[in-house]
Amino acid sequence: MKNLSDIGTIKEILSRHGFSFSKGLGQNFLINPSVCPRMAEYSGAGEGVGVLEIGPGIGVLTCELCELADKVVAVEIDKRLIPVLAETLSDYDNVKVVNEDVMKLDLNELIEREFHGMRVVVCANLPYYITSPVIMKLLEDRLPVEAITVMVQKEAAQRICAEVGTRKSGAVTAAVNYYSKPEKLFDVSAGSFMPAPKVDSAVIRLDVYDKPLFELNDEKIFFKVVKASFAQRRKTILNSISSSLGLAKPAVNELLLECDINPSSRAENLTMNDFYRIAERIQNV
Ligand code: SAM
Repeated sequence: MKNLSDIGTIKEILSRHGFSFSKGLGQNFLINPSVCPRMAEYSGAGEGVGVLEIGPGIGVLTCELCELADKVVAVEIDKRLIPVLAETLSDYDNVKVVNEDVMKLDLNELIEREFHGMRVVVCANLPYYITSPVIMKLLEDRLPVEAITVMVQKEAAQRICAEVGTRKSGAVTAAVNYYSKPEKLFDVSAGSFMPAPKVDSAVIRLDVYDKPLFELNDEKIFFKVVKASFAQRRKTILNSISSSLGLAKPAVNELLLECDINPSSRAENLTMNDFYRIAERIQNV
């Protein structure tokens, strides 16, 4: 296995392929050798397991996943990296690289086709410009995956792993908690990447529930309520919901009281159960 976290090796491979980093595609490659083995270990990759990776870059994490898992499918948008990956992953016969935009892929179809009958996990050092959209797509598409282990910016990690009902929570916290149990695993300094980003990162794992936290009449309304509640987080929950959803204040006030929620509390004080109760009643407003 080549040492793909060694700066000299990376520079040599990339210059031979005439590759230059694209900031727009969030290309910060890992150069800290201790990170990928830990991520792969935590991801659940192992015998009988298929791993979906997003954004393999030059394949530094992919190699570690290939060592542990039965099969790895890595989705990379940048076609310039495809010949690079053909070279760096040439030692492995249990990997497939798919040159696509992950946001445009039918991932349920890909998983059924590539990992039929296997347990599946996701593991990735995510491009930061689409961290939340990718995580929400992985969850909303209801993929048959057991866990999602991803590197994200430290702030995003704090938000996602915050407890719902506390100041650090946001709409993404509630959305992620509906589908999974999030946990922060470890921090990764900005200097662990080439080029170094401006902020530190962290690895988080989402243990995906077989079924979401509660059965909703209409999931869309639940997510609308969560988004509306946090849209203006300094406002009271009464003002946020009525203005963001265009509902009459007296009706929202009554609904909140019926749900046993103080109308002057703020979104960050609400629990998952509070959002659930509002969403279930709002259909009757
Ligand atoms: N896994 C490598 C590592 O850890 O060194 C690279 C991680 S880098 C932060 C993000 C990778 O995601 C880049 O290779 C980038 O080209 C790729 N990428 C960006 N947007 C993507 C998208 N929409 N779909 C698939 N891959 C994408």
